[in-house]
Amino acid sequence: IITPVRDERGRLCHFIAIKVDMTERKHAEKILRERAEELARSNEDLERYAYVASHDLQEPLRMVSSFVQLLEKKYAEQLDEPAQQYIASAVQGAKRMHRLIKDLLAYSRAGRPGRPFEPVSCQEAVRAALSTLEMAVREGGAEVTVDRLPVVQGDRAQLEQLFQNLIGNAVKFHGENPPRVRIAARVDGADWLLSVSDNGIGIEAEYTDKIFAMFRRLHGGSDYPGTGIGLAICKRIVQRHGGRIWVESKPGEGSIFYFTIPRSEAARV
Ligand code: ADP
Repeated sequence: IITPVRDERGRLCHFIAIKVDMTERKHAEKILRERAEELARSNEDLERYAYVASHDLQEPLRMVSSFVQLLEKKYAEQLDEPAQQYIASAVQGAKRMHRLIKDLLAYSRAGRPGRPFEPVSCQEAVRAALSTLEMAVREGGAEVTVDRLPVVQGDRAQLEQLFQNLIGNAVKFHGENPPRVRIAARVDGADWLLSVSDNGIGIEAEYTDKIFAMFRRLHGGSDYPGTGIGLAICKRIVQRHGGRIWVESKPGEGSIFYFTIPRSEAARV
């Protein structure tokens, strides 16, 4: 770096030259870059591995469950009570594994580049999600209110999946009262702020971040079946759309899941 130095009359009197040795900094930057590339490569490998594993596991599982079901159908009368129980447990296990694999695949797909973004009506995405959830909504006696929702730039299938997971949870994690669910949206600066609120069992403050991690479940068992992957999928989808997702909740009173989607068309992958 060379800087001219002038006297009080503005006449040039001398230069100051500073030599900076960049070798060490460049070396450190090179190592950092290499590490980042290595990490990205190993993440990609892991992603591919998870995708292939979950995809290829479907076929043998289908075989196991269809033969066990055949056994149940054809030989049930010749089998005694315990044998029938064993078969029922095997069918249950296969069903649970099928759900897990399906969710793992969805998680894995949510992290892949996917389809290019297009204008997607959130109103229609919610309608599609509700039609998939029709049985759960009807069985739970849920009342679902949908406000006016915007059109955003996004991946239609992923946005449907996002609403399906959030509304599905809002219906599932209900308390004594029948579920009341509301889907709303408003402008928040450069973003749309969308919300899915419920009057369910709620979440303790210390867990509101943790539930977005894979396999993290606060409530399980037969009351609330699930795999603990749903919210991890939601997080991936929202991040791919350039937004954030979080929850505000009061145990025993209900939860509001919020997520943002940029309003600008610049939000692309
Ligand atoms: P799953 O629904 O399969 O258990 P998720 O990843 O969708 O998995 O959710 C993780 C956990 O977060 C759930 O097991 C539950 O404990 C909690 N949770 C999610 N949504 C709600 C909700 N609307 N109300 C209360 N708890 C919730």
